[in-house]
Amino acid sequence: MKLSPHFTLEELTQSETATRHGISNQPGPGEMDNLVRLADELEQVRSLLGDLPVLISSGYRSPGVNRLVGGAANSDHMSGRAADFICPGFGTPLQVCRAISQSPIRFEQLIMEGTWTHFSVPALDAGARRQVLTAHFSSNGRVTYTPGLA
Ligand SMILES: [Zn+2]
Repeated sequence: MKLSPHFTLEELTQSETATRHGISNQPGPGEMDNLVRLADELEQVRSLLGDLPVLISSGYRSPGVNRLVGGAANSDHMSGRAADFICPGFGTPLQVCRAISQSPIRFEQLIMEGTWTHFSVPALDAGARRQVLTAHFSSNGRVTYTPGLA
């Protein structure tokens, strides 16, 4: 089912973790509305990046899936407002983040996660925070974030 010309509900809800653990990753009506807005924003990202394929690794996460993957307790993925992706045809995640941060695209949070980009849209009727962060992964598994793009 298409949410926008280039993004489907399937790719924004597929979860290897959910499949492996046999748990549901079906969004409710509120999350569905957010996923449609997310797909619309991702269309703008895709066009900014030269209309090249944007490969989603994680979109919506049910609370159970989010817990299993170690997501933040208040993760935008749980409301269907965030997607992790790469666009190898355009460049590295750092290059992708630079392009988005310099564009007028309305995002809530943009995080350079090393090997992928985390992108989220604001809550309905909320202003866009446009927060840009870089994630740092330490050997003990902890993640810290610093402002801007390193
Ligand atoms: Zn993410």
